[in-house]
Amino acid sequence: MKQIAFFTLGCKLNYAETSTYERNFVKNGLEAVQWGSDADIYLINTCAVTEHSEKKCRNIIRKAHKMNPDADIVVTGCYAQLKKTDIEKLPGVKFVFGAEEKSMIVPTVMEYLASRASSDLPETSEMPESAALSGSCRTPESSGNMFPAYSTGERTRSFLKVQDGCDYFCAYCTVPYARGRSRNLPVAEIVAEAEKIAASGIREIVITGVNTGDFGKSTGEKFLDLLKALNEVDGIERYRISSIEPNLLTEEIVDWIASGTKFLPHFHIPLQSGSDTVLREMGRRYDTAAFESKIRYIREKMEKPGMPRVFFGIDVIAGFPGETDELFMETYGFLKDRIRPAFIHVFPYSKRAGTRAAERKDQVQDSVKTRRVELLENLSRSLHDEFVESHKGLRCHVLFESSEKDGMMSGYTENYIRVERPYDSGLTGKIVEMEI
Ligand code: SF4
Repeated sequence: MKQIAFFTLGCKLNYAETSTYERNFVKNGLEAVQWGSDADIYLINTCAVTEHSEKKCRNIIRKAHKMNPDADIVVTGCYAQLKKTDIEKLPGVKFVFGAEEKSMIVPTVMEYLASRASSDLPETSEMPESAALSGSCRTPESSGNMFPAYSTGERTRSFLKVQDGCDYFCAYCTVPYARGRSRNLPVAEIVAEAEKIAASGIREIVITGVNTGDFGKSTGEKFLDLLKALNEVDGIERYRISSIEPNLLTEEIVDWIASGTKFLPHFHIPLQSGSDTVLREMGRRYDTAAFESKIRYIREKMEKPGMPRVFFGIDVIAGFPGETDELFMETYGFLKDRIRPAFIHVFPYSKRAGTRAAERKDQVQDSVKTRRVELLENLSRSLHDEFVESHKGLRCHVLFESSEKDGMMSGYTENYIRVERPYDSGLTGKIVEMEI
């Protein structure tokens, strides 16, 4: 039996896709082995969000070749889309699949393995029936180059892909070039995937996409239609939305979520800058006043005394071209004084060839970016400590995960506070009410 190992870089969408490739390869008769094992095929799902991610991808490809120089390496993901010819030159690389070709990964690799197997046989032998294509990613439900995907790595929580691509073309971002235009599968197909997840015993789904709230463009449906349909899936008890643009998280959606649904008080929202000057130059579709009023609206609708508060995780880019110290301090002050999120995901700006921001002459020095990242990370730590502290003595609901470390297990409350307790296998996948 041929063995295949997987490595994923980047976002949750990539993890959902890799997990789906893995299930489909296993269905086709391959054995999935741990990364680091001596496999026949290495599949690497890459990321191109920063220069650093691209470097990491090249290193992983080289490592895979060192692990087994006879193995065939398959590369896909955003870096594969953007730098196909560079990757093809790396030793051991057999296939590179860009964004438009992802649904062909399993059939192509299986066809290749079948043809290799047949050419290894003595001439008199009967040709084996091709193992290719059965149960591959090329499912009848597939919609163009968009295929259903969900992760199964963690037994209690699954990332379900509902949307791919983006039409926003923010000034710093390569994602629309790497993943293509915004598109989605119909609600009914996604619900069918959620039912499969529920049947596997998983209790929580994280709704995942590139520009998740843009859902519905290619099917004429609305994001809220999807949320309502998913809410009815038996067996799934909790949903989170992995990341949503502030302009797409409408009051209608917030009102519905707050009306007693399975959707948790946890939002991951990209801000990117707390300066209106920088937001305009980034090409973002809101200003700080709109952002702040959205956060206030959510808090008013969803927070009640004695109940868990809403966890806001906010993305911020430090050191966008032209960001002076004063403009950066606008961001810092906006987060510290006006938004006060539970967590800030800070990214130093990374110059990506082909984007508008990369052309600018007023790039910020790396040392300045590093200092700004540090300042925001320190702010994030203190805001997070304060958020957790404000829940002391409150009763929350924790979904415990399966892994054990030093005799302990962990899980997350509805509002994403990580909680630990002594390991008890009986609690895996269970939602337990406990005092924080
Ligand atoms: S919304 Fe902007 S930052 Fe997000 S994927 Fe689209 S272009 Fe990139």
